[in-house]
Amino acid sequence: MPPSMSTDWPTRLAARAQGRRTAGLWRRRTVQPTDAVRDFAGNDYLGLARDPRLAEAMAEGARCHGAGARASHLVSGHLAVHEALEARLAALTGRPRALLFSTGYMANLGTLQALCDGETRVFQDRLNHASLLDGAALAGAPSRRFHHGDLADLDRLLARSPADAPRLVVSDGVFSMDGDVADIAGLAETARRHGAWLMVDDAHGLGVLGEVGDGCVGRAHGIDAVPVLVGTLGKALGTAGAFVAGSHELIEHLIQFARPYVYTSAQPPGVAAATLRALELLAAEPERRARLGARIACFRREAATLGLPLAESHTPIQPLVLGESHRVMAWAARLAERGLLVGAIREPTVPRGQARLRITLSAAHTEADLDALLEGLAACQAHDADRQEVTT
Ligand code: PMP
Repeated sequence: MPPSMSTDWPTRLAARAQGRRTAGLWRRRTVQPTDAVRDFAGNDYLGLARDPRLAEAMAEGARCHGAGARASHLVSGHLAVHEALEARLAALTGRPRALLFSTGYMANLGTLQALCDGETRVFQDRLNHASLLDGAALAGAPSRRFHHGDLADLDRLLARSPADAPRLVVSDGVFSMDGDVADIAGLAETARRHGAWLMVDDAHGLGVLGEVGDGCVGRAHGIDAVPVLVGTLGKALGTAGAFVAGSHELIEHLIQFARPYVYTSAQPPGVAAATLRALELLAAEPERRARLGARIACFRREAATLGLPLAESHTPIQPLVLGESHRVMAWAARLAERGLLVGAIREPTVPRGQARLRITLSAAHTEADLDALLEGLAACQAHDADRQEVTT
């Protein structure tokens, strides 16, 4: 019997660990300093996470309402500060209502679990976030995956599915590892033609895209086009948690049936208070989004001059697809020596052979930060070119 099938737990664990180590894919956490590094790995796109005004709002929220909410929303944890935040998020995204979840992972899990069952057919972009796939699996709903961004493939799959099954099309708004933006109007039109609903997870678009930071769905695409909208608060808004926005009926349905909503403690009130402050700053300081746009344009211009393998992304997520995971790890390590933190993304998060540096830009980056990054990347490139010369 192979060790991975053993009934002895330590043997099973050791066999799985060995498999991952042998593939060179062992994942490691490192305690990160919060100062003294230039962070191009996080999702703090507007530089709000370390804004002292958010920290102050968080402390004040905790002083007024307690460090924790003490219970789930349906028992006694639903506080005025949550209610106010939900109203603000609904207004931002142009929806009648919004519902807070503790994390984006749970919002996606809970929404899919509450909407779907074994009868439902779910159609997911091939590059959708893991939480969307896990949500459909939790619901016992079969997921069909269409080619990334390929509306014709989606159309074909929808046309082949049983017409009497409820159908849900699901897509990231901004793809988390590629940075490209879904064609929301095209997805909405394709879903509408087949009588399907559309769910968009705009985790990385909210706060960054849209007229007022309302995301790539937001006010431009109402509930008729996108009945189910998910946004997260731990990225551009700098705090933590997530929400689902939609019709009154959708929100009531989630309150009744979404187990990851019902059976968990409400968000700490300080987090909700800090998020309210982040939303105020989003509206009051549009220059943050303008600065971010300038950093993205500058990075793309300079990286293209260096001949780096840029992806087709105009969002803060700027992947450099290097191919093999050992090359990505080597570049990330060399950049770390220069105090530059970038994401090193390998399979299974992205397909084999598409390992990449996930570089993220923020309004908090200075021109000097960007110069340091570009110098570091140029040095990595020069190092690879030297090695190439030696080995050929
Ligand atoms: N959706 C997408 C597209 C994401 O990238 C992430 C986080 N990486 C999530 C959902 C999960 O959000 P959270 O971190 O709040 O759980």
